[in-house]
Amino acid sequence: MPEQSIEMTPDSSVYKALLESTKAIPWKINWQTMAFEYIGPQIEALLGWPQGSWKSVEDWATRMHPEDQEWVVNFCVKQSECGVDHEADYRALHRDGHYVWIRDVVHVVRDDSGEVEALIGFMFDISERKKTEEKLIALQKKLEEYSFKDGLTGLSNRRMFDTVIEDTWLSAQRNRQPLSLILLDIDHFKQYNDLYGHIQGDECLRRVSSVLAKAIKRPKDFVGRFGGEEFVIVLPESDADAAVRVAERCISELLREQIPHADNSASQLVTLSMGIGTIIPSQNDSLTEFLATVDGRLYEAKDAGRNRIVAA
Ligand code: GH3
Ligand code: MG
Ligand code: MG
Repeated sequence: MPEQSIEMTPDSSVYKALLESTKAIPWKINWQTMAFEYIGPQIEALLGWPQGSWKSVEDWATRMHPEDQEWVVNFCVKQSECGVDHEADYRALHRDGHYVWIRDVVHVVRDDSGEVEALIGFMFDISERKKTEEKLIALQKKLEEYSFKDGLTGLSNRRMFDTVIEDTWLSAQRNRQPLSLILLDIDHFKQYNDLYGHIQGDECLRRVSSVLAKAIKRPKDFVGRFGGEEFVIVLPESDADAAVRVAERCISELLREQIPHADNSASQLVTLSMGIGTIIPSQNDSLTEFLATVDGRLYEAKDAGRNRIVAA
């Protein structure tokens, strides 16, 4: 068989056809004049600006989201000056006013003496990827939020309480300020469920929750669902009198709601029992013991007939 020799180097028309048929948009900038020597015609389909309107780096820099402009231009200039290949993600301005996420991948071309001669690169449309990324971030935020929120009532959950009480305890210790805690438990809630059903039981929990949320007034005050039909209120920088006032406000607000509970021996309405504790914690005090003390008072309130507050 005769040897066949095939010329494998494509001519420039092949390169051109390849470059202009990819989704990525090729471009070249002359480093001396800062002018575009070339930009792929695909740019018009992506950003709306015609190929011929890309004359200098000015056109590139001004067709960018104002929040991205400064850092992207500075970054690209600095990297190019150092002769370092680089890439940047930014929002490019579409001719009709919206923005398109672009990844610009830049290669620095040097002449024989090593001086920067030109920049060549590709622009990639990464808007789909960004959308997915943004969705993921939003989802993560939501998950974080959910992990500190009680799904039924929308109040903070037990996990959030654990964080809040620890922080409050430490800062009360540091500042020698009193901190107050109220534990609240719905009276005969098992009977409520038995009588009215679980769905209405859930609704009752929501109504009690919004009553409690209304009863606290200062931004630092905290209310959470401790679990089941138990709630907790943390009042930083509050003495015992202030705590009793908040507890009484919970009772009066709940009374205003007039939620019937025919099987509540303490009343014909939904009522709460509460234990209150106040402490200026010293180094020797233990948070666990303090919580146990307040919990003990809640049980005293139950034993004494429910629908009442037991403080120190
Ligand atoms: P006490 O006055 O001594 O507190 O009596 P109680 O019946 O309220 O207390 P107990 O601890 O015996 O019962 C609590 C009830 O709360 C039992 C449980 O079914 C109900 N419960 C807990 N979580 C939920 C919930 O998310 N939804 C509903 N509907 N009920 C709940
Ligand atoms: Mg109860
Ligand atoms: Mg309970």
